Amino acid sequence: MDHFEKIAARLESRDLDAMLLTNEANRFYASGFRTAGTDGMALVTRDGCCYYMTDSRYTEAAERHVRGAVIQEVGAGRGYAALLKEAVQRHRIRRLGFEDAYMTVREHGALARALPCELVPAADLLSELRAVKDPEELEIMVSAQRIAERALAEILNEIRPGVTEKEIAARLQYLMLHHGAEDMSFDPIVVSGPNGSLPHGVPSEKAIQSGEFVTMDFGCVYHGYCSDMTRTVAVGSVTDEMRRVYDTVLEAQRAGIDAARGGVSGHDVDKAARDVIDGAGYGPYFGHSFGHGVGVEIHEGPNATPSNALPLPAGAVISAEPGIYLPGKLGVRIEDVLYLTEDGCRNITLAPKDLVIL
Ligand code: ZN
Ligand code: ZN
Repeated sequence: MDHFEKIAARLESRDLDAMLLTNEANRFYASGFRTAGTDGMALVTRDGCCYYMTDSRYTEAAERHVRGAVIQEVGAGRGYAALLKEAVQRHRIRRLGFEDAYMTVREHGALARALPCELVPAADLLSELRAVKDPEELEIMVSAQRIAERALAEILNEIRPGVTEKEIAARLQYLMLHHGAEDMSFDPIVVSGPNGSLPHGVPSEKAIQSGEFVTMDFGCVYHGYCSDMTRTVAVGSVTDEMRRVYDTVLEAQRAGIDAARGGVSGHDVDKAARDVIDGAGYGPYFGHSFGHGVGVEIHEGPNATPSNALPLPAGAVISAEPGIYLPGKLGVRIEDVLYLTEDGCRNITLAPKDLVIL
């Protein structure tokens, strides 16, 4: 999984001599080494020579973990700009790609003054590469998914009237870490009863009551890659309306999954699910889109949204997460993660989806 090579191979077609990586997720994608925030830069040149620049706090760790790049240490009087300038001159770089989606105006200004080359916006080079997972990335993402599923299987034994949303969220975090997660992909969403109509509600002190839905949206980070899943379960009993809403969301999700494959547009995948919800009369209550890309970041390209007319590439990993939210009443969302292939998709989420009444 040498992603430095993959980046280098794309430079010629964009008429770039090199690509500068400053964003944390992109640096990790390229190097396999994770540091927080702005503590490093990577430079990929067209001739395949790569540099990972960091400060003394991270040099030793970088030497252990970075694959495929020369480690350079910044220090007093020899900062990132000075090291980059040396590399620009050494490799005769005229056009240097940079991550326009992430760099601040101030950082761009400082680099433009310091470097004797043209800075070319090229963040999409990285998003295009990251959108297509290689087999090693997929394997890691499947492992991340399994950790979340083990946490789900255990939490189902603990959901009962009187337990609060916050307690469930805390236990989910513990269980994922216990089963090998490095971190959470995002703070778990646990909402119940009328709180369920808030698609991204924050877990509260509200106690679960009999006759309510509990929606749990959670995921973990494993070897730097995210998992993401949502299950909605009922406690005690369900009304006819609850069952109808649940069945509609599940049918919509299955329709979207059936439509999902490489080469189909994000719009068309979304529409396959949305048509089911519209047909059941709940169209106004499905406000978000069908899915988003998942990988190093919990939300990355490509997206299965009504506005994405572009084909989803084979090799993409996207979520499949339709929902219906009846304000002040209830909500249901079901989310799996799909790996798109040329002729369909592989659902890497194996947790059951038939309505569970605890
Ligand atoms: Zn989710
Ligand atoms: Zn999601």
